Formats: sequence, structure tokens, C-alpha cells
Amino acid sequence: MTEAVLATDNRAASTAPAITVERGQRAVFCGLTSIVWLHRKIQDAFFLVVGSRTCAHLLQSAAGVMIFAEPRFATAILQDRDLAGMADCHEELDRVVEELLSRRPEIKTLFLVGSCPSEVIKLDLNNAASRLQSRHSGRVRMVAYSGSGIETTFTQGEDKCLTELVESARAPVNGSQKESPALIIAGTLSDIVEDQFQRLFDELGIGPIAFLPARSGDAMPRAGSNTRVLLAQPYLTETAQALRGQGAKVLNAPFPLGAEGSLLWLKAAADEFGVSDERFEEVTAAPLARARQAVGYQREKLRGKRIAFLPDSQLELSLARFLARECDMNVESITTPFHDPQIMASELALFGEHPDMIEGGDLESRLDHVRALRPDLTVCGMGIANPLEAEGLRSKWSIELIFSPIQGFDQAGDLAGLFSRPLARAAQLEV
Ligand code: SF4
Repeated sequence: MTEAVLATDNRAASTAPAITVERGQRAVFCGLTSIVWLHRKIQDAFFLVVGSRTCAHLLQSAAGVMIFAEPRFATAILQDRDLAGMADCHEELDRVVEELLSRRPEIKTLFLVGSCPSEVIKLDLNNAASRLQSRHSGRVRMVAYSGSGIETTFTQGEDKCLTELVESARAPVNGSQKESPALIIAGTLSDIVEDQFQRLFDELGIGPIAFLPARSGDAMPRAGSNTRVLLAQPYLTETAQALRGQGAKVLNAPFPLGAEGSLLWLKAAADEFGVSDERFEEVTAAPLARARQAVGYQREKLRGKRIAFLPDSQLELSLARFLARECDMNVESITTPFHDPQIMASELALFGEHPDMIEGGDLESRLDHVRALRPDLTVCGMGIANPLEAEGLRSKWSIELIFSPIQGFDQAGDLAGLFSRPLARAAQLEV
């Protein structure tokens, strides 16, 4: 039984609500899981996990949908070794990388992804990446990061990956120096959402813009002192820090979820780049109206329904804000694995009156809390959903919200629909 430690977090801005910090057991996928969406996004990258058979099984089952495609991820399995055997380990890793690169000439970025078995922790993957980089200089960019379950949850896996991409952008491949873009949108977005945002920024006259991660290794942006950054995902604490380290300014905005979130997110950039209010309204009026109409249709099904969030993706606060303010849902409990008060300041300011909000969360005490509340819907990790369903509590996998295109005006109705569908299904089953 884990003992929960309670404390009050006063790091947030003084206008924002205080958040209770609770420590304890968690049930969240590790950072390796982010490879599932990152490998789809960066189309000329390969993710080589240095790990155990458990890591291989996780990737196989989490990314099972890719079974018929040419895979761009694999696991180099390390057997149990003592420190004296680590030299062989490096040789083995070099051999696997040589073989992979000679078989797959299209690979432009090779990620060496660390994991948590003790043999891997003994192996210095950053050194391995530098050694391999000097051997394959000009041919492929080597990037090492950790997806270990000891250090990362599944969304923090993306944060670690992007942080290393930002850091490695300091060392250009082929000696090429790229111009820094005016605006970087940081955080993985589906291609369709990215194209919609690109069009809106073009119409607003903001640019050149770049997306991080880009669709190809060659297009990864490098920030400069004139660069502004808009985060598209709330879990990028270290990435934001790395971009600030390159002189970029990270803009404060709510996240582009729902009509309101998308509007305020774009407005933060428009204000920074001096776009007039008239032009902003001209560009956003039509998509905003479409988004409001689409959400309005779903609001009829969601109004007054009670929802609770268990800690999983770090999207909890933004989703709760959207569901409370635009869908009239009663948000009864929010637990998030971690929140960065600087990054979340605009979200928290929108909240005003807030329900019970907890950072971290002890699994048992959070589950007891949800059992006592008996909300209409609980947003939670996959491993927790089945037991809740067995107890007659409806659930929604939060990882689905990472895989689905949910950002921007044109996705606002679909986002609300992701919450109304399980409720409609439950109502049908009850009939
Ligand atoms: Fe399990 Fe650790 Fe491998 Fe993740 S990195 S699959 S938590 S052993």
C-alpha cells in the first residue's frame, strides 16, 4: 500500500488556483509509447529502442496496427551483462546500426531510445550517438534520448525526443546553416491539422513558420533570438526550456482545443506579430463559426454530464477547460500527472472556479475518489478503464486523445464527439 504525501503547490501564478500535489503509485505507459505517433510523423526517421524483451513486447502491442507496414522502429535487445561486458554491448550496438543503415538508405534520422533495464542504464547512449554520428556524418543524424519508464510517462517521451531534436539542431548536418523561423509550432500534430494551421497563419501574414517535429529530419527547425514559439501540446516543459535556451520566446496561450482554445491560441501569435484585430477577425470568423456550431450540436448531448479525469496524458486541464466552458459538462475532479505552471498559466486563468485539482495522484486513492463520485464518464489510462467498466463506470482512454486529430477549429466538434459517443453507447446499452 503506497502512502500518499500531500502538499500544496503554490508555484502557479497568484491568480491561478492552488493545486494539491499527491505522490504515490501510478499506472501510466512509459515514454517508449510515444514512438507510436512520432514515427508516423517524422517520415524518414527510425527509432531503435535499446531495451529488453518487455520493451519489444510493449512496442509490438502498442503499435500493433503497423504490423503490415514497413516498420520504422525496432528493439535491440540487451541480455543481462555486468560492467565488464559493456564494451561488447557497444560493439553489438554499432553492428546493429551499421546493418540497419546499409539495409535502409532512406533513414535520415536515427533515434537511439534508452529504456529502464539496468543493462541499458549502464550504457551511455549519448556517447554511442556521438561515436556513431562521427562515423555516419553527413549521411544520418543520430539522436539519443530516454523513453525509460522510470523517468518518463508516454507524453514525456515526446518531450524528451523533441528536446534532443532541439539540442541536436545546434549541430547542423552537412555543415548547412538554416535560417531560424519567425514562429515554431512545437508538439506533434497530425498532418491534416498542421496544414489547416499553416493556412491560417499564412492568411494572418505570420511567417515563416516551422513545425517541431517536422515531417522530415532535414526540415527540423533551429530557433534563434527572433523566433517565437507556440506550444501545441501541454506536456513539453523540457522542449520549451531548450527552445528558450536558443533565445526563442515561448508565447503564453491556452492550447488549441475547442473553438475558444483555438481562437485564443491563434490570437496569442497574432498579437505578438502585430496582426490587426480586423484582419484577425476576418481570417478566423468563418472557421470559428463552424467550430461553435459543431460543438453546439454535441453540447446538447454533454450538458450537465459529470466527468472526472485520472492522471495520464497531461492534457487533462485543457480538456477539462474545453468540456466545462464549451460543452457545459460538470468537471468534478481533475488529476494530472504533472503540470508546468508557466506553460499552463493561460489555461488556469480561464478556469476560474475549479473542482478538486491534483497533480501526481496515488492510484488507489484516486480510484477510490472516482468510485465515490461515480461520474458519468472517467477519462483515464487504458489499464484502468476495464476495471472501471466492470464496476459500471463509463470510461474514455486518454491515449486516444493523443492519437486523434483534435486541435484546431475544424476538429472542435469531433473532439466533443469523442466524449459524447461513450455516453450515447452507455445509454443504448441501458435501454
Ligand atoms: Fe517496460 Fe521500462 Fe521497457 Fe518501458 S522502458 S517497456 S517501462 S522495461
